[in-house]
Amino acid sequence: MTTKVYDAVIIGAGSVGLPTAFFMAEAGLEPLVIDQFASPGQGSNKAAIGGIRATHSARSKIHLCLRSLEVFSSWGEAYGDEIEWYRGGYSFVAYREREERALKELLNTQHGFGLDIRWLDGDELLEVIPALNPDGLIGGTYSPRDGSASPLLSAHAFYARAKERGARFHFGERVTGVICRRGKIVGIRTDRGGYATETVINAAGPWARQVAEMAGLSVSVTPDSHEAGITEPVQRFVEPMIVDLRPYQGSKNYYFYQQSTGAVVFCITPEPPIVGTDRRETSDFLPMIAPRMVGLMPKLANIRVRRTWRGLYPMTPDGFPIVGRSRELEGYVLAVGMCGQGFMLGPGVGSLLSRMVRDDLTSADEETLRELSPYREFGGEEKLK
Ligand SMILES: Cc1cc2nc3c(=O)[nH]c(=O)nc-3n(C[C@H](O)[C@H](O)[C@H](O)COP(=O)(O)OP(=O)(O)OC[C@H]3O[C@@H](n4cnc5c(N)ncnc54)[C@H](O)[C@@H]3O)c2cc1C
Repeated sequence: MTTKVYDAVIIGAGSVGLPTAFFMAEAGLEPLVIDQFASPGQGSNKAAIGGIRATHSARSKIHLCLRSLEVFSSWGEAYGDEIEWYRGGYSFVAYREREERALKELLNTQHGFGLDIRWLDGDELLEVIPALNPDGLIGGTYSPRDGSASPLLSAHAFYARAKERGARFHFGERVTGVICRRGKIVGIRTDRGGYATETVINAAGPWARQVAEMAGLSVSVTPDSHEAGITEPVQRFVEPMIVDLRPYQGSKNYYFYQQSTGAVVFCITPEPPIVGTDRRETSDFLPMIAPRMVGLMPKLANIRVRRTWRGLYPMTPDGFPIVGRSRELEGYVLAVGMCGQGFMLGPGVGSLLSRMVRDDLTSADEETLRELSPYREFGGEEKLK
């Protein structure tokens, strides 16, 4: 083990690990980030399509994502990096009473948190999204403050700025275990050696369960496969991210938006889930999603798809992330189980973890940590996964 003692070792240079390293380094700490892959963001981060919203149904996620929105929307100006931030908003559309009811019910909770989200009837929604199929459209929610950014450009920006501020990064190195003395973390072991630290942050995404097991801990994170795709860039014709919650054979909801580059990116939630770590794209995905997208927005029939890919959601039993200190092993912190929202949660979680390591938590942080505790009852279910 090296003699240098890092303020924290972060396992995973992904959607969570990178902003965490940035906020720690900005606060004057020296974290070491270790990732098994060759460069930043090569796990689930690069598979995300880039949606960022604060319009959730739980206080913890709203709190974290409001912070994330602040970070993403001001990044270009603050640090000069192009991350393709675009404030196009989000819209959950309703063509059936079932979705209309569910979305309207949620609005009460969301208004309680002061979120800028409203219900638009069919005609009003068509003014915001003229390309929607008007047949049977009841209406939908519209939250103009939400937006999108490029996951890979953001990952690189967090990486570059963290490094500039003194964070250390080791790529192509696998964490294999922790080193403990009298029930406390004193270091971490990898396939290349060992590093001294009293704080280890498990931000290993879909691999979080195995990484926790290396420390003798158990955490309920199960990866499942999701596919996505991107089209050629075209002139802007749609502003918000559109989410269609109606299930169909083989899938639940799907969502898509037009990036700041003009390309349309899209993905679908398979039903039943495809559990496992298979990241090979399939020929089933496009025939499944294309008719649904064209049905919702007929003019998409003329756009050409350039590429599809497959990535992993790190899922938890209730659809909420798991963030907090281990009670069994002093110095071990979990920041895992981000499900389908780790990109948008990343900066919020990262700044919270930086405060946690510095013993500088706010009362809102404490509340968030209670909701996302590794020791909560996993009985509830997130309404807008
Ligand atoms: C198709 C698709 C679309 C998505 N769209 C969105 C979206 O629009 N918005 C959104 O917010 N989220 C989206 N997501 C979800 C998002 O990608 C994930 O929630 C997020 O990337 C998880 O972040 P993470 O940091 O936990 O994991 P990752 O980003 O996977 O980072 C974990 C890192 O840990 C490293 N690691 C693991 N084990 C070890 C080890 N033993 N040693 C060293 N390194 C290790 C991995 O190499 C990896 O780089 C999408 C996901 C998919 C698949």
